Amino acid sequence: MSSHSDNRDEIKAQRHKARQQKVKQQVDAHVAAATRETGVLMVITGEGKGKSTAGFGTVARAVGHGQSAAVVQFIKGNWACGERNLLESAGVPFAVMATGFTWETQDKAADTAAALATWQQAEAFLADERISLVLLDELTYMLSYHYLPLERVLNAISQRPAHQHVIVTGRNCHRSLLALADTVSEINCVRHAFNQGIKAQQGFDY
Ligand code: ATP
Ligand code: MG
Repeated sequence: MSSHSDNRDEIKAQRHKARQQKVKQQVDAHVAAATRETGVLMVITGEGKGKSTAGFGTVARAVGHGQSAAVVQFIKGNWACGERNLLESAGVPFAVMATGFTWETQDKAADTAAALATWQQAEAFLADERISLVLLDELTYMLSYHYLPLERVLNAISQRPAHQHVIVTGRNCHRSLLALADTVSEINCVRHAFNQGIKAQQGFDY
């Protein structure tokens, strides 16, 4: 290689180093500014696949650190659930709504009663100081179908113990719940196997 191109490489490397130093300074400043330790309300919403998976991943993370977590599953009914099999055996309590998929049951009174019964269990978790993380899986639909009163849901979440984290999953999250959340992630659907005729499969989809 000519000394000319050696020189150019050296200049590039120096520029890269200077840029990275600046990035590092900015990141360090951000990290230094984030000093509060408190319970976080996170909403995982959007049309793409991965909302519940991310919620359960965080439950596994908490349990892996010896913390206690609880899971409330709305809508799921008695479907098989790999995460439940694993996490219940690790001592994580589950409250599961007794009905099947809501759009199949067509019985609003029964669905509302089931939603309220499940929400009571959620309230018990949200009042329990010992629980570090509560996953409210598919809660958003209980609000969009008007199965649960919005105020009651917002109250229980906002009055939970200060250190407790809560994760809500589901599409079309109510704007009041979004407004209350500290972290909101929207998973977009770029493509989904189902639309290519691939069925939901055990161990991957549930
Ligand atoms: P997952 O449980 O896989 O993280 P999710 O929680 O993001 O999915 P849900 O709407 O709760 O999404 O979906 C439950 C089931 O529907 C899963 O089997 C999932 O694979 C499937 N699903 C999720 N998103 C889509 C989509 N955009 N099109 C078709 N099926 C989907
Ligand atoms: Mg889900």
